[in-house]
Amino acid sequence: MSGPARTIGIDIGGTKMALAAVESGRILHRVTLPTEAELGFPRAVGRIESAIRGLLASADWRSGDLAGIGIGCAGPVDPRLGTIDNPYTLTGWAGVNILAPLVAEFHVPVRLENDANAALLGEWAAGAARGFSRVVMLTVGTGIGSGTLIDGAIFRGAGGAHPEAGHLVVDPRGPDCYCGQRGCVEAIAAGPAIAAAGSALGAADTRDVFERAARGERESIEILNRAAEALALGVWNLVHSILPERVVLGGGIVDEHYDRFARPIREMLDRATVVPGGQVTIARAVLGNDAGLIGAAQLPLQ
Ligand SMILES: [Zn+2]
Repeated sequence: MSGPARTIGIDIGGTKMALAAVESGRILHRVTLPTEAELGFPRAVGRIESAIRGLLASADWRSGDLAGIGIGCAGPVDPRLGTIDNPYTLTGWAGVNILAPLVAEFHVPVRLENDANAALLGEWAAGAARGFSRVVMLTVGTGIGSGTLIDGAIFRGAGGAHPEAGHLVVDPRGPDCYCGQRGCVEAIAAGPAIAAAGSALGAADTRDVFERAARGERESIEILNRAAEALALGVWNLVHSILPERVVLGGGIVDEHYDRFARPIREMLDRATVVPGGQVTIARAVLGNDAGLIGAAQLPLQ
């Protein structure tokens, strides 16, 4: 293949799936679908395949024009096997293989990566982490994803698995978490955790908690302060264990309410005495929700 790199990027989250035709890191066409994981994996794959065919038609590409398809998905995923094993936020998707049907259908390389790593790759290739070699990114949405980039490579753990920094414990007496622990960052600061805390006050959902806080309702402000403090403690722990040059904060919730989350992180790090002064910078993910999509589209080119 010659000419600009053409790929399809797919970002699969707990509530929605975004797909895009991407050329040289630029989104040309996109489509968004509700994930509806509970309606079954085969149905989702069929809708992904239809959406890809639609994108190819919109871009006037044939599948032979593609350098590949990249998928970022809410973890845990196994990039080597192409399996998604996330019964928590993708109900019923346990051990499903997403690479095989797409390879069979489109006959191009297909790569799978944790959505947090995909977002990190996107920000590194074209956003807030560009030019940095040691980067940590936290993505706050339905869950809290984390990714670490060391000298340009995604950091992996035992067996090639993805470390889940969303389960750093920041309050040993905090709410129960599905991971088997309690008081994880995700159990306090992710969207569903904020909604669960708000429901005790009669709040309808996560957005309602933010709206009530914006109107000055004290209890809602306290829920969000607690979420922001949990995230800040998570960043504190990551900064002291990894010492990245840049911490990127992304995901739907942080994207909409950046200052509320970034301010306590900066205040906390300003008090740090064992972190080299001025070496760690905090930045907002500039690609917003497109980071995962652009990063996924980079995967076949890695
Ligand atoms: Zn947990």
